[in-house]
This record gives sequence, structure tokens and C-alpha cells, in this order.
Amino acid sequence: MNFDELALLTALNAPVGFEEPVLEYMAAELQVTCDHVEIDVRGNLFARQQRDPSKPLVMLMAHADEIGFLITSILPGGFLAFTRVGFPTDMVLAGQRVQVLTSKGVLQGTIGVKPGHVLRGNEARIVPPVDALYIDVGAASVEEAAAWGIEPGTPATFYGPLTQTAHPDRVMGKAIDNRIGCLSLLEIARRIHADESQQFNVVYVVTVEEEVGLRGAELAARHVNPDVVIAVDTVPAGGTPDLGSHELPWTIGAGPLLKVRETNGLSTHGPLRKLLREVAAANSIPYQLIVDTAGITDGSAAQQASGNIAAAVLGLARRYSHSAVEVLDLRDARRLVDLVCAVLPELKSREQLLRIQLPK
Ligand SMILES: [Zn+2]
Repeated sequence: MNFDELALLTALNAPVGFEEPVLEYMAAELQVTCDHVEIDVRGNLFARQQRDPSKPLVMLMAHADEIGFLITSILPGGFLAFTRVGFPTDMVLAGQRVQVLTSKGVLQGTIGVKPGHVLRGNEARIVPPVDALYIDVGAASVEEAAAWGIEPGTPATFYGPLTQTAHPDRVMGKAIDNRIGCLSLLEIARRIHADESQQFNVVYVVTVEEEVGLRGAELAARHVNPDVVIAVDTVPAGGTPDLGSHELPWTIGAGPLLKVRETNGLSTHGPLRKLLREVAAANSIPYQLIVDTAGITDGSAAQQASGNIAAAVLGLARRYSHSAVEVLDLRDARRLVDLVCAVLPELKSREQLLRIQLPK
């Protein structure tokens, strides 16, 4: 789980609907360790290590897309009106640097912010809503912005290169949600590939359109028809001064998150959750058991869409969710990889996934 590869992955710009750069990277890397790589028309990527069909088929998934913006029009003076895609809050927008991804290349820009010198009374305390904001790419006119390739629907992302903090394992930047999930999948695939004795039945799935309603995962799960789904995604972390101890009672650096339930969605399959906990305990892998009342992942969509499966979500806590400065502790991701690699050999039969044993 190295900093450089996560830096590379987070530097790729892949807002919802424009995931190609991440899909291309993941396809090239998964090709090295998997027997068969395919992509559907929608953009979901599938890579298979199917070595023993008698074992349960395990689908490991992570989403490629990141939250971002779409330009809606060019304003007088060459400024850009925009809307968000996914859910960065108004609070994290004003004053941030962004990258506008035109067909002619990437334009550096910033989300403009009114000078404090002229704010009157309460105005200084109000967070400007997204529809009052605009992007400045340095264009001097509507014509100039258009000549640079900006048109309605041009996507944009935060600018937030992955940066090492003074802590050896803590990093910050944009799109940690969910490039760290993508990197975790790559690491798992590499580790299994390196060990010929491992005879599993795994499909790695890189999904699209997660940030706008788990849309790719549904389709992917129906396509793969697995026995087990484990979704890997980031989760907003608690433990900061602005959150009470009862809000998001899990932190970065204390191990991956095992969701018992997520909002309006999945309850982790009982026998699968039990197995994950036993394997974590046996291998001294710390983890945090959580009830996520704030978020939902591809795990819920896959569980619902593919029907007769055991599903779980393994989370990675990160601070400042959906901002340009998400903070992650890399140790959590290393432990998540350890946990998944340790649990795969224990998934031996479909019968072990049944919630009760029927009377003889
Ligand atoms: Zn995510």
C-alpha cells in the first residue's frame, strides 16, 4: 500500500460519468494479475481470478468515480457557472482550487469567493450556496472561455494532490474516496496472484456512478451473479473536535470498519460478518464494528440487485469527506487488505453461508 501509487490514482480525474482514466489504470494493472478482464458498456470493469469453481464466487468491489462538478454555462467576464455531481457540501467549496477538464486539456481554476473587506454584518457568517458560486479559470471573456474548450457539461474536479503529513501513515488529498478502495483491490489481486497455492474464485469489480446513487453496482452484481459480495469504500470518520463522541464513533488509524448496517440499506450477512470477525481475531487484525447511520455504499445496491448472496461492506475511515483534503491513515487500508486475504481461504462452500442449518 504505497503512497506513490495512491498519489497516482488520486491524481487521476474521474468525476461521475467521466471515469475513464481510473478504469484504464485499473484495467492495465488488473490485467497483470487476473486471467480475464472485461468491461461493460456502462463502464463497470470486471477482472477474474477464477481458479476453483467449486468455491463460492466472491465479488470484491470498489468504485472508480469521484464527486465533482459540471459546468452549466459561461458567465459574462469568462466565469463559469457550475453544479455539483455527488455531494460535496456548500461548506467545502468557496476558495478551493479546481481543475476543469476540457476536451483540449486541463484548465486550472478556483472557486471564487467574495472579498471579506466588503462583507456586511451577518453576510460574513453565511456559507454561499453552490448556485451563487462560480469558477475562475483566468478567461477574460465568454469567447475566450469557449475557445479554451469550455461548454455546457464540461466536468471539473477538486485540485488536491495527495500530500504526506508529518505522521508516517497519514495522508491527505482529493478522491481518497474511493481510490484507496481501488488500490486495496489491486493489492489483494497482486497478493493472491503471487501465491499459486491460493485456489479461490474471485471477481474484482471496479464500478462507475457510485456517487450519484450506487448505479453501476446494481448492474455489475446482476452480471457477475456472485455468492459473496464485499464492497470496499471510504466512510466519514469521527474523532475530530467538531463531532461529539456519539457522532460517527470510529476513527482513522484504528483499523478497517466492518459495517453491521448502513443507512437505508444493507445489514451485513450474519455468517459472513461472523467469519470476518473470527478471521480478524485469529490474525490479530484490528477492526472497528460500526452502524453507519450516515452513508450507503455499492454493497447495498449489489446485495439487492443480485439477490441470493452474502454481502458485507468493509470501510476505510477518512476525515473531511467529499472535500479536497480528505485525511486517511494508510495502516487502515493495509489491515483491510490483510483481512480480505485472510478471509478468502475460509470461504469454502456455499453451505457455510446459510444462516441456519435445516433439520435433518
Ligand atoms: Zn465512496
